[in-house]
Amino acid sequence: MAQPQLVVFTDLDGTLLDHDSYGWHAAEPAVRRLRAAGIPLVINSSKTASEISQLRRELSNNSPYIVENGAALVIPAGSFGANQARVHNFGAPREELLKILAQLREQGFRFRGFADMSVEELVALTGLDSAAAERARSRYATEPLVWEGSDRSLADFRKALSARGLRLLRGGRFWHLMGNVDKADAVRFLLEKYRARDPDTPLVSVALGDSPNDEQMLATADIAVVVPNPLAEPVRLAAHPRVIRPDVPGPQGWNQAIMALLDQYGL
Ligand SMILES: [Mg+2]
Repeated sequence: MAQPQLVVFTDLDGTLLDHDSYGWHAAEPAVRRLRAAGIPLVINSSKTASEISQLRRELSNNSPYIVENGAALVIPAGSFGANQARVHNFGAPREELLKILAQLREQGFRFRGFADMSVEELVALTGLDSAAAERARSRYATEPLVWEGSDRSLADFRKALSARGLRLLRGGRFWHLMGNVDKADAVRFLLEKYRARDPDTPLVSVALGDSPNDEQMLATADIAVVVPNPLAEPVRLAAHPRVIRPDVPGPQGWNQAIMALLDQYGL
């Protein structure tokens, strides 16, 4: 049987990046080995494309990447024959989200979204510096909101959104408005592209995550690596055929799991 092609999908915060320091260097040996073996390392994060561009440079990563909790996939120039970067949205694009938000505001719902805020306001709210606030505001297919109405009105707001095929995801500080998509939609789409490119090579997908918003991505992959995070809610995976649980958190655990897999596949 042909040697399988591995494709690795990874969450960032608490998984490839240390929960506190945001460093990834403990995973450097495994990252290097993936690169040397030509194995795609696909970042799959809640962050925006602008927010992860620096990290992609540090990782020398040219693979496609999934941003905004699965709402968009970026195929960079040079990948899949693209001569310039292409973006696939899996839900409504942001312009459409903003249009719907404007309608709901007219109906009396009270909230503020990133699009309503100046960079200064965003800096004050998040503690980011202004360049980082700009990167957080540059979005394809999601909109973070601060809710300013009552709990009851929030329930009605969610209903109105769900009638439009949208959902609200609870983030640390914000609610994230997005289409009915999750981190797995883009994973499936991208795996199809890899499969179509090389139909004779068996594909083995590996996903690494540390928290409940990674569950669908982990469930979709052939091999799920659940990186321990004592501070996150537990990850629930029903009847997954192959789950690896490293015994250390963050990039150390990431490194341990990927090194063992590469050994096992002789890569
Ligand atoms: Mg995480």
